[in-house]
Amino acid sequence: MTPTVDLAVIGGGVVGMALADAWLARNPGDRVVVYDKEKHFAAHASGRNSGVLHAGFYYAPDSLKARLTRDGNRMLREFCLERGVPLRETGKVVVTTSEEQLPALDTLYERGRANGVTLEMTDEAGIRELEPLARTVERGLWSPNTAVSSPAGVVIALAQRVQERGGRVVLDSAATGAAPGWVMSATEGRVAAGHVINAAGLYADTVAHWFGFGRDYRMLPFKGLYWYGTWEPGRLRRHVYPVPDARNPFLGVHLTVTVDGRAKIGPTAIPALWREDYGGVKGMRGREVWDVLRTYPRFLRSPHHDVPGLVRTEMPKYFRKYLVSQAAALVPSVRPADFTIKGKPGVRAQLLHVPTGKLEMDFVVEGDERSTHMLNAVSPAWTSSLAVADYVVERITR
Ligand SMILES: Cc1cc2nc3c(=O)[nH]c(=O)nc-3n(C[C@H](O)[C@H](O)[C@H](O)COP(=O)(O)OP(=O)(O)OC[C@H]3O[C@@H](n4cnc5c(N)ncnc54)[C@H](O)[C@@H]3O)c2cc1C
Repeated sequence: MTPTVDLAVIGGGVVGMALADAWLARNPGDRVVVYDKEKHFAAHASGRNSGVLHAGFYYAPDSLKARLTRDGNRMLREFCLERGVPLRETGKVVVTTSEEQLPALDTLYERGRANGVTLEMTDEAGIRELEPLARTVERGLWSPNTAVSSPAGVVIALAQRVQERGGRVVLDSAATGAAPGWVMSATEGRVAAGHVINAAGLYADTVAHWFGFGRDYRMLPFKGLYWYGTWEPGRLRRHVYPVPDARNPFLGVHLTVTVDGRAKIGPTAIPALWREDYGGVKGMRGREVWDVLRTYPRFLRSPHHDVPGLVRTEMPKYFRKYLVSQAAALVPSVRPADFTIKGKPGVRAQLLHVPTGKLEMDFVVEGDERSTHMLNAVSPAWTSSLAVADYVVERITR
């Protein structure tokens, strides 16, 4: 007999888990199942990110990211405290490396205020007092609500809460097909589902296409590399970020503090050739490489981004010494000899809007009464996940 569930979630990263959790909180007693294709939790972006709880000041005030990051930051903090997931209150400074960056810093400050985020403008001495290792030119920003936690720890704690609420989490079970009303699971066969949520991260576009959604989008994966420092834990106290280029969706090379106090540099935003391109040839699929190669030219010709600038600044970051030298512009005591431990790379599930050639900057949710598709769950969807889940589940009509 075909098993029947009220909700089937494809993808058990932080977004899929948060959605299952929010659904069960609103519909206790419903039969909910989460399928993930991997054998362990947080195998992809949710376990390979910086673990930074962003405050929400980068994003356009009318965007989903602005609202859901501000609220998600508060909700994730509460969740970590309630479930005993480690949380480190680092705060963050945003620094400039030249006077030319001051207007962009002012814009960032105004954005933060428009987004209802606590943010302070301070001077060189103020930055030094907050983070003695950082330097800025004239002014810098202080974000007290930026913090850090354990990326995988959050996913595991969410999976536990889903199970406590009566949901099932099935690992090592890829969804090999789906359509309105059913999902084909590698371990459970064809499962009838009242509603299907697609939270498949790097494969969210593929799964959405099964349902006829997300037709205008194609995945353009970007790889993030990290290098850890050998500094004693606690030497760097705050996250230190540059002023980003507003035309591109990436924040630039920064230094973060991990939840256990280690300093780390990265991530880069280097083109990846296939979706799970973490190094070597593992996970390489010819079809994916072909898709990526035919999608990049569309992006390279895009009038919406500073593509030549992005290529010029990002490609050399393949080289550790160059990457570290970029970080040294923010924290002068950083030396290549101290940042030699390679971190686990992550790949951003960045979507390209094919008709316009524009990298999608906001979260995109498509769907109808039978299915919902979480497209472009890029940074900071880990921070925003609980708020995203509330927002989405409230809008699903059954
Ligand atoms: C380098 C990097 C740094 C980042 N830093 C931060 C940060 O500091 N703060 C922040 O807030 N965000 C950050 N992000 C963004 C954040 O990691 C993501 O937005 C978030 O993890 C997305 O979660 P997800 O559940 O959508 O994706 P994922 O974690 O990728 O989960 C998707 C899941 O779907 C599964 N799946 C895929 N296809 C199938 C299928 N057919 N059947 C079953 N399962 C399937 C996969 O196995 C995977 O577990 C960063 C991202 C990267 C790449």
